[in-house]
Amino acid sequence: MVVKQSMYRKVLLIAIDTLSVDHLGCYGYEVPRNPTTPFIDSLARRGAIFRKHYAADVPTPSSFTSLFTGIRGIRHGIIGFNNKRSEFKCSTPLLAECLAEMGFKTGMVSNLLYPCPWLAKGFQDIYPPGLRFQGGTAEEVTDKAISLLEEYRNHDFFLFIHYWDPHCPYLKRSKEEYRKLFKAEDYRNAVPDMKYIRENEFLSIFYERKHKKMGDPVDPAENLALYDANIRYVDDNIRRLYEFLEDKGLTDETLIIVTSDHGEAFGEYGFWDHWTCYRNISHLPLIIVGSDIPHVEVETYTQNIDVMPTILELAGVEIPKGLDGQSMAPLLKGEVEVFRDEVVVNSDATVVQRMLVKEDYAIVHTLARPVWDHVKEWELFNLAKDPSQVTDISEGEADLAKEMRIQLGDWLSENLNGRPDPLWLSVYRGGWMWRGLCSVLKPDELRKAYERYPELKRILERREVYYCA
Ligand SMILES: [Zn+2]
Repeated sequence: MVVKQSMYRKVLLIAIDTLSVDHLGCYGYEVPRNPTTPFIDSLARRGAIFRKHYAADVPTPSSFTSLFTGIRGIRHGIIGFNNKRSEFKCSTPLLAECLAEMGFKTGMVSNLLYPCPWLAKGFQDIYPPGLRFQGGTAEEVTDKAISLLEEYRNHDFFLFIHYWDPHCPYLKRSKEEYRKLFKAEDYRNAVPDMKYIRENEFLSIFYERKHKKMGDPVDPAENLALYDANIRYVDDNIRRLYEFLEDKGLTDETLIIVTSDHGEAFGEYGFWDHWTCYRNISHLPLIIVGSDIPHVEVETYTQNIDVMPTILELAGVEIPKGLDGQSMAPLLKGEVEVFRDEVVVNSDATVVQRMLVKEDYAIVHTLARPVWDHVKEWELFNLAKDPSQVTDISEGEADLAKEMRIQLGDWLSENLNGRPDPLWLSVYRGGWMWRGLCSVLKPDELRKAYERYPELKRILERREVYYCA
């Protein structure tokens, strides 16, 4: 017999774009002298905190599409920045559709629809804060969310709120009063080893020019301080949002979920931004708070495809059949110790990668690595000892590496079920990963890159033919 949990007919899903799990106090962050997330930490002390929660897909478009469908990118078709609307293939209803069907008012305060128009399905009220992708400040997002909550408060509702502030450009987005709380000198010992960037001519050029183009400092310590200032700004706004709910007496009946779509890298292993699937990008914060959810520390692996079925179960709404995700509700009651044995993450960005994580080991298959010469096709990491994934141990642990490669291969065959692998298709198309680099190189540098990387040559030549046709 299934024991029914109490039903939440008011649901608030808060996503903080680019929020690294490593920068929240409740996940052990201690670098700055002022806390980055005092309010989110207080939510984590009351509700369930998931310690090993991973995206199924990164970066932004694929991560959110997996979150809202409960399906993996290799099935719904959205795997990176390059996908067209026609590539979104999902026959099951999206989260907001399921809830709207059951009479919930559904709203989103997000400009995700610019890159992902398919995510509009099921939302009745859509408010992009700012007129472009990634636009809008935490204050604008919160103000709009509060006005929608005012309108929704006497109804069943599902409100999705999406903050962009931790995303670069860090300086342009930062507010002076928050910059005062986070000083670069506090981060000098926390700066990653930049040797992979320093030793690679193209990476040095690429990142230096990209920072300048964004108006950001080049110094990682300064960027870290700005990033944390922006996180704190969001945290204070989420507090304001919660205080509104408290004021209206809605906190007891509202289910609150706080999460992110991917993390952020500050030079670790030769990468900035969030364009890999390594742990610092794919490991996400997840906190679920509700009046009958006790404080639980969830130590088993979970993925963002599991969020949709969880919300549906907690809202008393039927979960569509055929999802890749499954409801985590039993974890909230402490009934299950092992939820997933392993997690697999796919990513199509500067590098095209797939990672399997099991028992704190991660095997990473890099299908394309443009100019990141130090990245090997297959790498094995011990995440317990090396969470930033900078030391490949595949040679010393050859048997384990082989075993995990086979497991990843089996996972892939099972999940593709005879369809072509969209990550390989993306590599073949040669799209997004080279574009950023080519946009910052001067003609003589581009010529040099063209000579050194036959892959770039193939892509440029093919594109020329393609566009002339
Ligand atoms: Zn994002």
